[in-house]
Amino acid sequence: MLKIVYAPDPILKKECVSLPQVDDHHRDLIKQMFEAMYKANGVGLAAPQIGLNKRIFILDSGSKEEKKKPLTMINPTLISTDDKIVPYEEGCLSFPEHFAEIDRPDQLTIEYIDENNKKKSLTTNGFTSRIIQHELDHLNGVLFVDHLSRLKRDVIIRKMKKFKKEIKTSNEKKI
Ligand code: ZN
Repeated sequence: MLKIVYAPDPILKKECVSLPQVDDHHRDLIKQMFEAMYKANGVGLAAPQIGLNKRIFILDSGSKEEKKKPLTMINPTLISTDDKIVPYEEGCLSFPEHFAEIDRPDQLTIEYIDENNKKKSLTTNGFTSRIIQHELDHLNGVLFVDHLSRLKRDVIIRKMKKFKKEIKTSNEKKI
C-alpha cells in the first residue's frame, strides 16, 4: 500500500513534470493510487502526495456515495475557468483533520490524457471542478493552505509539524 506524504514536506512544494507516454508501470501505480485514496476516504490524490514528481492525479467525486466515478488525469492543462467564484470547505489527504474554506471558480474546462494515452477534454462545475482545481494545484507545488492568509496557514502548518513529530515518536516506540 502506498504511503501518503503529510505536509509539510519539500516534495509537496515541487512543480511536477509531464509524462512523455503512459505505460504499464504508470497504470499499475494509478491503480495503487486509487486503492490508497479510497482507503483514506479521499476524493482526490495527486502523484506528489505519494512522493512522485509527475503530472498525474486521480479523483472520484462519487467515492463517498459508493457510486464510483473514477477519473485519471495525466498532463492536465487548464483551458478556461468561470468568472463565478464560489467558496467551499476543502480538506486534503496530506493535511488530515484540517479543513478551510477556499474561493475558486465554479466551472472549468480541462484537457488531459487518460491512462490509455487518449486525449480528453472535460467541462464541469461544482464538486468535480473543485477537486480538479485542488489536485491541479498539487502538480504545481501549491497546497490548499497556500490560498489562506499567512496567519491561518502558519497555524495549520505548525499543527501538522506537531502531528508528524507525534507519528514519528510513536513509530520509534514501536521499534
Ligand atoms: Zn490535496
